[in-house]
Amino acid sequence: MIDDNLKDVTRRIARCCEKTGRRLEDVRLVCVTKEADFSQIEEVIRLGVKDIGENRIQEALSKYKIIGDRVSWHLIGHLQTNKIKDAVRIFSLIHSIDSERVARGIDKEAKKLNKIQDILVQVNCSGEKTKFGLAPDEVIEFINAVRIYQNIAIKGLMTIAPQVDHPEKTRPYFRLLRELRDKVNSLKLTAYSLQLLSMGMSDDFEVAIEEGSDMVRIGRAIFGEKIS
Ligand SMILES: *Cc1c(COP(=O)(O)O)cnc(C)c1O
Repeated sequence: MIDDNLKDVTRRIARCCEKTGRRLEDVRLVCVTKEADFSQIEEVIRLGVKDIGENRIQEALSKYKIIGDRVSWHLIGHLQTNKIKDAVRIFSLIHSIDSERVARGIDKEAKKLNKIQDILVQVNCSGEKTKFGLAPDEVIEFINAVRIYQNIAIKGLMTIAPQVDHPEKTRPYFRLLRELRDKVNSLKLTAYSLQLLSMGMSDDFEVAIEEGSDMVRIGRAIFGEKIS
């Protein structure tokens, strides 16, 4: 089942790239394994998955202990200050930064490990109270504050679209994130430009790719719905 699902997702990503004139290698699939067990993770790795997304540090650590650096690890969930040290140790990209305090902590821990920690700034494009992330109009000031940290590289922006009854309805949020990235780049706040947009999940990744996503985070479409 996972085999077929993964093939289907990959095919849909490829078709979407073709349709929008983007290169397949420019859209990375982050396979979200928060609901998956070890054997399922081993299976997707065997099938060629290179990027794994987890939203809880504790769980990621126990999976990392077994799986190790055969894949790149992505933190997609909220990061608390007391977990920063572990996060910096294992994650190649942290998608969920929305606080200066956490950014400062990451910089400090990364310095100790002699690492430049890649991060994305999480933006709450829909303004839902239940979601983490900065309001769109806070992003520029935030990047201005965080860019001084030498052991952090701000690679781009991340958002989670609201749950809607039709994927098309997510389009404005993805578009907003892309426009925000372009605006940040046009202001030249950072010495380098922000490249990455991490957006799109099982229900809406095709719309996200059409709007310029560089990284889709997909769980259920690969592992199936969890029946609880
Ligand atoms: C769980 C999760 C995903 C994957 O969602 P699916 O609907 O299972 O594809 C992506 N991003 C974040 C931040 C998540 O928490």
